[in-house]
Amino acid sequence: MVRAEDVHKSFGRLEVLKGIDLAVRPGEVMCVIGPSGSGKSTFLRCINHLEKINGGRLWVNGHLVGYRQKGARLYEMREREVAAQRRDIGMVFQRFNLFPHMTALGNVMEAPVQVKGLPKSECREQALALLERVGLADKTDVYPGQLSGGQQQRVAIARALAMEPALMLFDEPTSALDPELVGEVLEVMKQLALDGMTMIVVTHEIGFAREVGDSLVFMDGGVVVEKGRPRDIIENPQHPRTQDFLSKVL
Ligand code: ATP
Ligand code: MG
Repeated sequence: MVRAEDVHKSFGRLEVLKGIDLAVRPGEVMCVIGPSGSGKSTFLRCINHLEKINGGRLWVNGHLVGYRQKGARLYEMREREVAAQRRDIGMVFQRFNLFPHMTALGNVMEAPVQVKGLPKSECREQALALLERVGLADKTDVYPGQLSGGQQQRVAIARALAMEPALMLFDEPTSALDPELVGEVLEVMKQLALDGMTMIVVTHEIGFAREVGDSLVFMDGGVVVEKGRPRDIIENPQHPRTQDFLSKVL
């Protein structure tokens, strides 16, 4: 579903990704951990071409991200093509970024109506089903300002799912939440994983990574230091940098 081959990304002279090789199978949940500044968010942003890579190759669903290949040459996609490609990828950030002037239902319906041009009645039915799926059937007509952080984040997940993505990217989706609200969001993500969604989750929730993740990646300094089964890495990290990091977060 996702393949990264020797992916490099620099901001000016700062090299942030120094050759990332990773593969995520359909239905796999890959969790990513690592210290602040190690390049986790940048890597996620490269996957949906919010950042342009400087070297290597990235594929989503068998398609090169942001480029077309003709013979041996690569051509940069136009913005329209990039936007079309992005529709297959749902992204949930640390901050919920809901539209404040729209209800929960309005937020979830917005993209299918505007981008896909589907009939409103159809989008409404789908949005209601999604809000029910994230446990918010009773909050459909409520505005984001009247929702808790955990509820807002669940609306954000429903909104991403409304575009029926093939892949979901989560960038520390619970790290801005009060501790008592973390569980409800992780539970929704766990259900999504059980339903077979392919997911890449940057998180410091080691318990989630161990229980739900199929694989765990430890990034540091722009490289993948270690990758494997979550339990193996958590209980028996091989690399001193992984050991050091886990000793601080566990
Ligand atoms: P955190 O755990 O704090 O979220 P991270 O692993 O997600 O960290 P990134 O956000 O990917 O780290 O940032 C990696 C490095 O790239 C940092 O040094 C950051 O300052 C730098 N960086 C990220 N985005 C930009 C940008 N748009 N311009 C310049 N530098 C950037
Ligand atoms: Mg980050």
